[in-house]
Amino acid sequence: MTSTKSLHLTEPMNPDAFTDAQQRIAAAYSPESLKSLGTDLVERLSQHMAELQQREHSVLNWNSPEENLPIARETLNSHAEHAKESLAERFQKLVDVAIRRGHNLHHPRYIGHQVPASIPIAGLFDAMGAITNQVMAIYEMGPWVTSVERALIERWGAEIGLTPGTFDGLVTHGGSLANLTALLTARNTVFPKSWQRGFTDGNASPVLVAHADSHYCVTRSAGMLGLGTENCLKAKLDPLRRIDPQALDEQLAQLRKDNRPILAVSAAACATPIGAFDQLNDIADVCRRHDVWMHVDAAHGGAVSMSKRHRHLISGLERSDSFICDAHKMMFVSALCAFVFYREKAYRYAAFQQDAPYLFDPSTPGMAEIDSGMSTVECTKRAAVYGLWGTWSLFGEQLFADLVDVTFEMTQILYRKLEAAEDFVPLHQPQANIQVFRYVPSASYGLNEAEVGELNRQIRWKLIESGKFYIVQTHLDGQAALRTTLMNPLTTEDDLNELLAEVRSSAATQLKEKE
Ligand SMILES: *Cc1c(COP(=O)(O)O)cnc(C)c1O
Repeated sequence: MTSTKSLHLTEPMNPDAFTDAQQRIAAAYSPESLKSLGTDLVERLSQHMAELQQREHSVLNWNSPEENLPIARETLNSHAEHAKESLAERFQKLVDVAIRRGHNLHHPRYIGHQVPASIPIAGLFDAMGAITNQVMAIYEMGPWVTSVERALIERWGAEIGLTPGTFDGLVTHGGSLANLTALLTARNTVFPKSWQRGFTDGNASPVLVAHADSHYCVTRSAGMLGLGTENCLKAKLDPLRRIDPQALDEQLAQLRKDNRPILAVSAAACATPIGAFDQLNDIADVCRRHDVWMHVDAAHGGAVSMSKRHRHLISGLERSDSFICDAHKMMFVSALCAFVFYREKAYRYAAFQQDAPYLFDPSTPGMAEIDSGMSTVECTKRAAVYGLWGTWSLFGEQLFADLVDVTFEMTQILYRKLEAAEDFVPLHQPQANIQVFRYVPSASYGLNEAEVGELNRQIRWKLIESGKFYIVQTHLDGQAALRTTLMNPLTTEDDLNELLAEVRSSAATQLKEKE
């Protein structure tokens, strides 16, 4: 036994130094400063949002890492070098630099990745969670946020079509972690010994059969779950890039015949490349026939449950064993807020094989059923649902329906424009708010396939560098193409006309330079 006497305790602090430290701390914790800086911040953000809605400023403030990094390093010295300036002045400078060098997702001409122009007011609720540091793991650490999370799981799950009282779910930090958690639950349920023993019993590793266009996190999950990424098999797609149910039926039959253990089928609603929704009822039939766990990655598309016009796209989702939905995609709240849903309540405890719910705190049986840490990778977890909770409570389901309807509609409008134009080729019909297309100049330029691809890459680069629009580039069936996701409900038809005009003029400049 080591006696406490053998510990070397530091000398007592000099009383003056101690008081100085306490005073510096008090300044950082000052409620008055919170108020004045907070008021200033909200005013600045409100002004910034108003300017963006007027289409002022660049969409992406493009600066290379070589330019940004030294400035970022320098800001860490603001307190010392500019000590002559007041706290308020230094705060304003920091807010300013973050706004000026950040990405303006709220610019109506941001139509790039699947990250939304989030509902600004949702951020106020997030700020509340952050400032009061509401965290979860066990109920008593975050009683209100835990309750709100449970209420949202119940409500959204029922909205999607799960039977109240029979299902369960959890909230985690993003879709990637949500897919991993759900597939871990599938693994532990389908192979009950794998949690303790892994797959070392000499049996072949199970396979995961996933939509061929799955998000990369699904393959990663196969790696992390000990299957090996090579055991993540692709499910064949139909010409609309949806899982072909007939081919899936044959694939599962063959795997069963070969005695290959099957972890799950992972379908997509929708898959990211073009936003294709799998036909979930057909896939559910196939999975049931072969007694295979059905998982659906509905990170992007789960929100269509809110829309009368589009909810048919996820019909059958309620029949899957597990699925995930990102609220920070099409529910338009700030990142991160991802939901995992389980058709059966009991699955919630399978992820980490805590089959005795009272395990967490034997003195309060029943509490563990609500403790979030029982079912999540995280121990401490931020109040991820506050933005969604606040928005839902203030505006109701109608707002979420409107956001889906308007952004999906605007994508149809873009599709029709592309189709009508002689020099644009839409590469698919949009089911969601994702549109992939190419600019293909008239034959007189005689460009080959690779040159058209290069031209499109250059167009996109010039476009984002100019700050006028933000779109992304992609490859579809080996072709380089442009990709837009209409993630800002304030984008108008005029913006889209302007996009086509900008692409044309950028292409013309580049083709001229080549001549
Ligand atoms: C966005 C997305 C993911 C990843 O989710 P994150 O929240 O970014 O981790 C996974 N799958 C699909 C279909 C997505 O759209």
